[in-house]
Order: sequence, then structure tokens, then C-alpha cells
Amino acid sequence: MQILIPPNKLAARVAELSDELRETYGDQPLTVLGVMTGSLVLMADLIRHLEMPLKVGVMQARSYRGTATSAGELALNLDMMPSVANQDVLVVDDIFDTGRTLDRVLTSIQANGARSVRSLVLLSKPDRHEVDLQPDFTGFTIPNQFVVGYGLDYQDLYRNLPFVAVLEEHEIAAHA
Ligand code: 5GP
Ligand code: MG
Ligand code: MG
Repeated sequence: MQILIPPNKLAARVAELSDELRETYGDQPLTVLGVMTGSLVLMADLIRHLEMPLKVGVMQARSYRGTATSAGELALNLDMMPSVANQDVLVVDDIFDTGRTLDRVLTSIQANGARSVRSLVLLSKPDRHEVDLQPDFTGFTIPNQFVVGYGLDYQDLYRNLPFVAVLEEHEIAAHA
């Protein structure tokens, strides 16, 4: 695989994002909601930088599809989510690709009575965007390539890599 974003760049950007969050929210209490499973590693790193009173929760979004192909059915599971009613909520996801996942998630958090909803993504692929929505905070914009690591998977593998990498053809084929 080919490393696209090394660990030191990830760490530096996460620290910058936490500064941006402090500028936006100050000391205001915040609910940070991670979209599982891709945001797992980012969540763990990001929340340790945040010093405002913080509630941390997770929800799950699963889209039924393969690698980087067409969008499929999206299923949201809010069973593990803390109450967001009257909360200022920051939704954290791994990547904004077509944007359909985040669009659905934000709508659903709003419908659950959040006072405000903003979004933060580690990665964004501008060439792929299909919805009229921009994340409020973006770590890195990347080209339209399928990436893994730092939470992102291929067939549930590679989430533990401490960097973001582009898979080679043979690595995709090996687990297809
Ligand atoms: P969207 O709904 O924005 O098209 O897709 C978002 C979801 O698709 C992400 O949360 C992630 O699970 C998956 N996804 C999109 N692009 C990539 C990619 O390059 N690598 C990986 N591992 N997952 C991706
Ligand atoms: Mg996802
Ligand atoms: Mg995945």
C-alpha cells in the first residue's frame, strides 16, 4: 500500500481541528457523536484534545456496497446514541464521499431535537460529492482513491493502521 497521510500529519491536523472546535464552541458543553465504525480512531484522538464539558456517544451507519462503487442502501442504528435533545451536537465521520451518509445522519440528529448540529470529517473527496452539504470541519481533502487506515476499512480490515493509505490492486483483489 501507498501511504497518503502519515501519522505525524494526522496528529497535527487533529490538534488543529480541536483548535477550530474551541473557536466555534468555546467552553460550551458539547455532545460528540461518532459514526461507527470508521470514526473510531479519529474519535479517540480528537476527544482527548477537547476541554469543554463533553458527552461522547456513537451511532452506526452502514451502507451496503463494495469498495468505491455505487451508493447502496443506508441503514442507521441509533440504539447506542445518547439523547441529543437540546444538545449541541458534533457528528464525526471518517470520510465525506458522496455525502449521502452524513446528509442522512445530520437530518436524523436534527429530527431527534438537537439544538445545533455540525459535522466534522477526517477526509473529503470533492470529486465525489453528490449532496448540497459541506462538512463544517474537514481534516484533509483527497483525490478520488479508495483509502484505508486510521479507522477506515476494506472488508473490515486495515482500520488499525496508524496512517491513511491507498490500497494497491493486488491488496483489493486479495480480499474481494
Ligand atoms: P458517502 O455516503 O459519503 O458516499 O460514504 C461515506 C462512507 O463510505 C464512509 O463513512 C465510508 O464508510 C465509506 N467510504 C467512502 N469512501 C471510502 C474510502 O475511500 N475508503 C473507505 N475505507 N471507505 C470509504
Ligand atoms: Mg462510514
Ligand atoms: Mg467501510
